[in-house]
Amino acid sequence: MKDRTLLMIPGPIEFEPDVLQALGAPTTSHVSPDFIEAFGQALERMREVFCAPGAQPFVLAGSGTLAMDSAGANLIEPGDKALVLSTGVFGDRFEDLLTRYGAEVTVLRFPLGETVDFDTVKAELEKTSYKVVTATHVDTSTAVRVDSRIFGDLGRQFAVLTILDGVCSVAGEELLQEEWGIDVVLTASQKAIGVPPGLALLMVSSNAMQAWNARTVPVGNYYADWSKWLPVMEAYEARRPSYFGTPAVNLVCALNISLGQILDEGMSARVLRHRAMGDACRAAFAAIGLDTVPMAAGYSANTLSAPRYPNGVAGVDLLPKIRAAGVILAGGLHPAIQSEYFRIGHMGATRPGDLLAAIAAIETGLHRCGYEFELGSGVSRAQRVLAAD
Ligand code: PMP
Repeated sequence: MKDRTLLMIPGPIEFEPDVLQALGAPTTSHVSPDFIEAFGQALERMREVFCAPGAQPFVLAGSGTLAMDSAGANLIEPGDKALVLSTGVFGDRFEDLLTRYGAEVTVLRFPLGETVDFDTVKAELEKTSYKVVTATHVDTSTAVRVDSRIFGDLGRQFAVLTILDGVCSVAGEELLQEEWGIDVVLTASQKAIGVPPGLALLMVSSNAMQAWNARTVPVGNYYADWSKWLPVMEAYEARRPSYFGTPAVNLVCALNISLGQILDEGMSARVLRHRAMGDACRAAFAAIGLDTVPMAAGYSANTLSAPRYPNGVAGVDLLPKIRAAGVILAGGLHPAIQSEYFRIGHMGATRPGDLLAAIAAIETGLHRCGYEFELGSGVSRAQRVLAAD
């Protein structure tokens, strides 16, 4: 039997063959005409994927944390007040990060498995004047989604710069950056964007670029300083070569291909496909009798799921059995409940058949752990959801 496993962790994910082929292609000069065209096109396509035609795209070699770091370094000056809305581990990361750049950080940490309560946020914004507020669209440690439309609205209402971590949402969940008035949306290549790890992507509104321009203190990070990268991004988009640090040539070419595929699918169709996969997972867990970390379907992510282990089943037993059934899933990440749940990534190139294979593997693993349920009931419910779409 062919040894083939399906990688369905919440990033990196399975990638499209054409994207992988771009990585294996002979590396070209970063100032060759072909590369200039690919980079320029990728920057233009980012505007469409983020639904932010007027924002400034940045593509840096690095992971999603660099994208977060770059937003923090460029928008925070020592003494600025920042409000962090945390729904998990990645929300918490902003506290540490913004503090490094001298921000006075207040964290509103929402109960585990619950989403942001915007009444609480509004009350805080009425009480204190902040320069920046951060949120995590989908926190990958909890699979909780935050209503980013309200986030943007509140930012505009209180004239606070909004930074949205979209690492686990961009190109999977609905996100209309410009219409919703979000100042910075950042992500990484290895999730729903569909490119192996190594690129940090940001889209920065003109409002945030103005705030950055008005800084009085130099950016406290050399590599991530937008003054180094803005001329480079502008040049490539105008189809001119430029240099500050060598771009990740093959990854940028792969990014351009993936963004092209995303736009060919269409943003609305893509969001609906992810929603169907999220719904199918939720239906399957209900059939099998698994609870999930998110407390309500209305704010459960569509890009990943976080089911809890049923009573009597331990992750150290279950995950290897799922792996033996052909699917690689991830364990828990949130330190408070790490051993109580696991995570399934269903984004980007994930197809309905992959999802059904993953649910079947979970059922096989649970069955082999001695958990009692009707084998096949999860697959059947998920298939009904996917077939109805
Ligand atoms: N934010 C979120 C929501 C994430 O899921 C991740 C990675 N899992 C990060 C930030 C950090 O990205 P990276 O691991 O690429 O540095």
